[in-house]
Amino acid sequence: MSIQKIVVIGGGTMGNGIAHVAAQSGFNVTLVDISAPVLERALGTITKNLTRMVAKEKITEAGKDAALGRLTTSTDLETAAAEADLVIEAVNENFDLKKKIFSTLDAVTPPETILASNTSSISITKLAGVTKRPDKVIGMHFFNPVPVMKLVEVVRGLETSDEVNSTIEKLSRDFGKVPVPVNDSPGFVSNRVLMPMINEAIFCVYEGVGTPEHVDEVMKLGMAHPMGPLRLADFIGLDVCLDILNVLYDGFRDPKYRPCPLLVKMVDAGKLGDKTGSGFYSFKK
Ligand code: NAD
Repeated sequence: MSIQKIVVIGGGTMGNGIAHVAAQSGFNVTLVDISAPVLERALGTITKNLTRMVAKEKITEAGKDAALGRLTTSTDLETAAAEADLVIEAVNENFDLKKKIFSTLDAVTPPETILASNTSSISITKLAGVTKRPDKVIGMHFFNPVPVMKLVEVVRGLETSDEVNSTIEKLSRDFGKVPVPVNDSPGFVSNRVLMPMINEAIFCVYEGVGTPEHVDEVMKLGMAHPMGPLRLADFIGLDVCLDILNVLYDGFRDPKYRPCPLLVKMVDAGKLGDKTGSGFYSFKK
């Protein structure tokens, strides 16, 4: 199936990056959010990032203008989605919210429209179950910052069709990304491997085995990780890490995924990492 018109829902961190990459790759994109100021900010961020790419000679000024010309914004989801070939949902990580959006999309989009979610942890099969087109529902898990990170985890729900899977793999390549196919399972592959490592690093601090700096130094120098797990946890957001660990813990009912009490305590205290200016490391806001 050919994709020309893409609607991205949610103009936050991920949605604005996805809209940027799609418009830069030659697709007509409408970015939708419930908040007009968020859309204004998203457009500002995309313009700033494209301008930076011109300065680095990665794209031309004409390429930047063309990308911005292909991008529109809207607060009216139903009208925007009515003519979409593909919708990529990137609203907050909340099942009830996503469920509502998927059932609206199922009602307002043409029956052949593919419905993708950028969720980090919610079951694609469960989202597909809200619609009458589970074969056309798929996960497109991008990574932050989207214009920079190469990976798209392409997540197949129980009923996702081969055709939809290959359309989304091809589209990811058209976006300049590398699609990696995975089956739907709690945390997919990325977070199932990453989050227990971050959790174990937090246990090392909790049990006094090492300071955050020392734990990170071991992983950077010994394992050639570009960033230590605790620095990465601060960057991702400690609340997000805790939510994903809970998804793994609930999904597998296996105590090996139990969140470290120190992580729970830091989230309770509002120490969420970069976004609050305080986590395992302190930041200037
Ligand atoms: P965010 O909070 O930055 O943005 C979410 C946006 O959704 C907000 O602008 C909000 O106004 C908008 N929104 C809420 N309800 C809406 C509605 N009904 N209609 C339209 N817009 C609505 O969140 P984010 O970090 O961009 O995360 C979005 C999704 O991407 C989540 O599912 C998250 O798990 C996933 N994800 C995040 C990251 C990351 O590093 N931040 C990485 C991979 C995947």
